[in-house]
This record gives sequence, structure tokens and C-alpha cells, in this order.
Amino acid sequence: MYFFRPALALARNPTAARQKIHYRIFQEFSFELSSIAGLGQQVKAALAHLHPPLLQHCKTETDRQSEKYLFHLPGKGNIEAVLLQHQTGRKTLCVSTQVGCGVGCVFCATGRLGLKANLCADEILLQVFHAQKILRQRGERLTNVVFMGMGEPFHNYQAVIDALQVLADDSCFSLSRRRVTVSTAGIPQRIRDFACDAPGFSLAVSVHAARDDIRNQLVPLNRRFPLQELVSALKDYWEITGGLTVMLEFTLVAGVNDSPELAQAAAALFAGLPVHVNLIPSNDTLYPPSDDPQVRAFAQVFRDHQIAVTVRHRLGDGIAAACGQLAASHKV
Ligand code: SAH
Ligand code: SF4
Repeated sequence: MYFFRPALALARNPTAARQKIHYRIFQEFSFELSSIAGLGQQVKAALAHLHPPLLQHCKTETDRQSEKYLFHLPGKGNIEAVLLQHQTGRKTLCVSTQVGCGVGCVFCATGRLGLKANLCADEILLQVFHAQKILRQRGERLTNVVFMGMGEPFHNYQAVIDALQVLADDSCFSLSRRRVTVSTAGIPQRIRDFACDAPGFSLAVSVHAARDDIRNQLVPLNRRFPLQELVSALKDYWEITGGLTVMLEFTLVAGVNDSPELAQAAAALFAGLPVHVNLIPSNDTLYPPSDDPQVRAFAQVFRDHQIAVTVRHRLGDGIAAACGQLAASHKV
């Protein structure tokens, strides 16, 4: 499914047409492009076929802190995006990059689906387009985008890189690069590529456990790319980017990866490096979350090593929109 990028490519010349097309899409949130005055016949004919899929379903948590959007992508299946509205005013959209995911982390509902299809860049952008349109109607706008929905972004690398360009483009979505974060389960060569191909964008890495035997059980990909290779890729990343802070994610499962010893191992591995640790108590029924005291003790170990650490608010639980709960099982 293609719509944004052909429209933008056609609009490249002449400048007046480009401005009008951009205005219609990104200010008026419309793809009725053929009615734009002053476009050549050929351009009009090409644009007449461009229409993004519609938003199929929108589910809002009662306190309106989070909303889940469902899209049907013809020939591929369903995907979901989640808008998280923080009390600080920050509005973060969590986008999907694949239908399902082939990595198979044990606590992740998306992983249980297996990989069904890769999204193209336009299908990633579609999610941002609809969220932005809904927010504009309320006089608000998106501040952040995180690639933490369904799928492993670095298993669909080029589409992600292409989408990032349009997200940051001043005349398109105009988002701050720093506020757009791509999260990966940890594919070493792609981490290095990302440093070169997406300068200024933020990176998050799902670590979960700083011991290979435990990480092997949680993230099967670790058997191919063990921790040592992950850390070596991150060191290259920091060299290329001049030390951009990387977010390290730990999904904490009671009795599995939440011991103070494992926190010590992680702190020893990353002490002195530009990282920010984010702890996410698991929300999976088969892999239940660590309790609050355990999470606090885990966090304290990082603080003791002067490593910044936060615990992620569990926005979206009520509508199965929290991390790893996206399975797009809704029938449309
Ligand atoms: N595939 C990428 C991005 C999508 S998952 C990645 O794994 O990083 C985004 C985050 O949600 C990851 O850190 C992942 O570990 C976490 N997550 C997955 N399932 C979860 C669950 N059941 N509870 C809490 N966090 C979960
Ligand atoms: Fe895929 Fe990320 Fe879920 Fe692992 S946590 S299965 S990499 S979406």
C-alpha cells in the first residue's frame, strides 16, 4: 500500500505543487489531492489513486490516558498503534512495524503470533497520520513517536529508515528526531547501521537480562547475538553518534529476571556508558510482573551505580494496549 511517499515524490517539482500537496495532507489531513488547483494533468492522474487505508476501530481507556487504533492492511492483516497521553502533556504514539513478529520473546503477545508481514514505510506513517489527525481536531499534537508496537523494527530496516525521514521532514510530520525512538531486541549490525543511517534519532534496546543463559530463554535471538556482541555494537554506536544516550529496557518477570544479582550484572555491564534504564513490569498473564518492592530494589542497584533509571507507567493496561499486548485480534 503506497500513498504518502508517491505523493511526496510527485510533489517534488514544481515548488508550488509541492507546497499545496503537503498542505492538503499534513495540515488538512486529506488525500483529496486531485482537486488541488494548478497541478498538471499527469500529476493529477497519478495522485487520484492514492488513498491510505482508513482507521478501522478506536478503543479509548475510560480515563482517556490511552487510545488504541486498529488498521486493516489489505493482504497483510491487522495492526495496532497506541496513543499514550502523559500528565506532563507529552503525547506519545507507539507504532507497529510488522504484522506479528518473528523474534518470539516469551512474554510478548505479538511474538506469539509469529511473523505475518512487513509493513512498508507508508503503512508505518499511516498510524502517525491518523493519530495526528485525531489530536489536531482536539487542538493538540503529537510530541513523541516510539517504534515499540508490533514487530521488530530492525527486521524491517529499510521501511523504518524511510519512515523516519518523513517523520522528521519539516514540511511533513515535523517531529523532533530526538523524540522519535526506535526499539530493538538487539541486532548488532543494524545498531551500527542505524547510527549511520538515522543520525539524531533515538535508540532503545530491549536487554531484559544481562546474563546470556537467562536472556537466551527470554529473547531467543540472544542465542545468535549474545550480550557481548550487543555491547560491542553499542560501543560502535556511541562512537559514531558521539555518545547519544540509549534507553535500555528491562521487562521484569517475577522470579525470572528481577533479582538484585541480575541488576548488579547489568549495572556492571553498562556503568559509565550513556544509558538510561527503563523498567517495565511484565503485563503478561503467563509471565507475571515483579511486585513493587522487587522493582524498587532492582532500580536502586542502578542508582547506586549512577545509572539513570525510571519505571514505566502502566498506561494502556485496561485496553490491552500496554507493551507486548498488541495482537490486533479484533475482528473487523
Ligand atoms: N521488537 C522491539 C519493539 C517492540 S516491543 C523490541 O522488542 O524492543 C517494545 C517493548 O515492549 C520491548 O522492550 C518489549 O520487551 C516490551 N514488552 C513486550 N512484551 C511485554 C510484556 N508482556 N510486558 C511488558 N513489556 C513487554
Ligand atoms: Fe518481537 Fe519485540 Fe515482542 Fe520480542 S518483544 S517478540 S522483538 S515485538
